[in-house]
Amino acid sequence: MRKPIIAGNWKMFKTGKEVANFIKATSTKVPTNGAESVICVPAVYLEQAQKLVAGTNLVVAAQNMHFEEAGAFTGEISPVMLADLKIKYVVLGHSERRAMFNETDQTVNLKAHAAFKHGILPIICVGESLEERETNVTNQIVGAQTMRALAGLAEADLMQTVIAYEPIWAIGTGKTATSDQAQETIKGIRATIEAEYGSVVAEAVRIQYGGSVKPENVAELLGKADIDGALVGGAALEAESFLGLFNF
Ligand code: PGA
Repeated sequence: MRKPIIAGNWKMFKTGKEVANFIKATSTKVPTNGAESVICVPAVYLEQAQKLVAGTNLVVAAQNMHFEEAGAFTGEISPVMLADLKIKYVVLGHSERRAMFNETDQTVNLKAHAAFKHGILPIICVGESLEERETNVTNQIVGAQTMRALAGLAEADLMQTVIAYEPIWAIGTGKTATSDQAQETIKGIRATIEAEYGSVVAEAVRIQYGGSVKPENVAELLGKADIDGALVGGAALEAESFLGLFNF
């Protein structure tokens, strides 16, 4: 059985005080079994958040990292730094980073390798544009993104990878993919993984859906056989709404 993973992606929101208040309001209330509960925190607050969640069921993730361990990369953070803080997950290849910060399938792949080298588990985002969905190339696009992101990873690492399927047209727009659309595409991603790496890996990989997930639609989405959790932006910013994401 794959353990569901609900991850709140805070993007570039919250101050230190708001981070503390959120964790105080949620850390003792997130479920103790069942789903894994993750918050993807802005880099400057990772250390603070990591201290505040100690001994609770909340897990802290980073939203991005560089693939190099150190170097002249002004403004970047490295896998060594995240490992130093014992960060468990890092989001890689979010569509906002692909669209605005030159993230490519190749850099996502380099970052995935770097993450595992330092004991960090990647949450790798893939997703199609509206035009790609309308021209019926969604499965090819997300399948190719997934394969390029995973290339060269060891089997044990593949099995621990989390994929987040996030149709670009559904992010922050209030337009959710229907649960059938999400299930269909995620099933396709799993089939692509199976064709390349076999059924043991394909059955182990957790694949989340992301894009306008909220407490009102989470149960329907997670009720689908292949949807193993959610990556949530807007509805994960407030404590009450975040906690509502576990009602599925
Ligand atoms: P949203 O964002 O839930 O606000 O649509 C999802 C994401 O970008 O991960």
